Amino acid sequence: MGSHVSQPDFHRVIAIDGPAASGKSSVARELARRLGFIYVNSGAIYRAITWHILQEGIDAEDSDRVTRALQSMAITCCIQDSESRILVNDVDPAGHLRDDGVNESVSRVSRFPPIRQIVAQKLHECARTHDLVVEGRDIGSVVFPETPYKFYVDASPEVRLRRRAAQGERDEITMRDHADFSRSVSPLVIAEDAHVIDTSYLTIEEVVQEIIARLKEIGLRI
Ligand code: C5P
Repeated sequence: MGSHVSQPDFHRVIAIDGPAASGKSSVARELARRLGFIYVNSGAIYRAITWHILQEGIDAEDSDRVTRALQSMAITCCIQDSESRILVNDVDPAGHLRDDGVNESVSRVSRFPPIRQIVAQKLHECARTHDLVVEGRDIGSVVFPETPYKFYVDASPEVRLRRRAAQGERDEITMRDHADFSRSVSPLVIAEDAHVIDTSYLTIEEVVQEIIARLKEIGLRI
């Protein structure tokens, strides 16, 4: 990533990072609702870009074509009904973000640095105007390293596979996790100052309670 804008330019940001199917989305959405913050799913931005690239018939491995496509792509992130909404060239791909093709290609597309820079820039723009709960892979480590409110949620591989299967999705999470952990630019890591929660045997409510307790402990006024 390029230069970071220092935290004082931003509203408050709570970072929720973790691997696929770790429980991030449910927890982040509920936490945002409780606190009156805006919920932002950064994975959805990577998915929207991936969907558009596939629509254009571009091979997700072809870095030149992916980078060129990015230059002619208008990505808009706006806030609607307390959640972020993404448009690509004025089209809302929300109904396609979990298509099999997107599941298969998103980790390949998300390793390209220009794509990571655009997504970080969109997240920074949102943080200039709203308090956010942002879920992703590199939110506490790279996108908002200055925020003191960092969480890393995890669950055992068996539990995560079971959760995805229960959602009826074809999603090779083991393959995505491997790609996300091993890529050279902003891989999935546990930020040094993140509070780690194993959600394997916890309910969403228990995880949210633990996060709120921790936030109070470190001085977030809520
Ligand atoms: O969170 P979700 O599983 O929907 O994210 C889809 C993919 O987007 C991840 O597997 C990862 O490749 C990418 N991603 C990322 N950085 C983020 C959020 C998601 O690389 N902050």
